[in-house]
Amino acid sequence: MAVMRRDDVEAGIDLLRRVDTGELDGLPCPKCGELNASAWFTQPAPDEFKTWIVCGCGFELRAQCDKRPIHYSADRVRNDLQEYDKRLARDRKFPAD
Ligand SMILES: [Zn+2]
Repeated sequence: MAVMRRDDVEAGIDLLRRVDTGELDGLPCPKCGELNASAWFTQPAPDEFKTWIVCGCGFELRAQCDKRPIHYSADRVRNDLQEYDKRLARDRKFPAD
């Protein structure tokens, strides 16, 4: 699970549960309250997956997945998010001193 503000954790768990059941669009955004958030996936490394929930209001939730998300598909990978995750993974492997 990504680092989130404490208040967001409960909403985040609920959102991730919905994503697991196949609700990828029209998710309730904890920030603006609209049914406007969507789920996206990234695969920054061959055995690493992340689930993102993003809303137009600026809300972003990023969660580490233990395995390939059930509804993961190439159509649902957003390149900008994947680049971000790849960059983080690289920084982790090669920490700058
Ligand atoms: Zn929102």
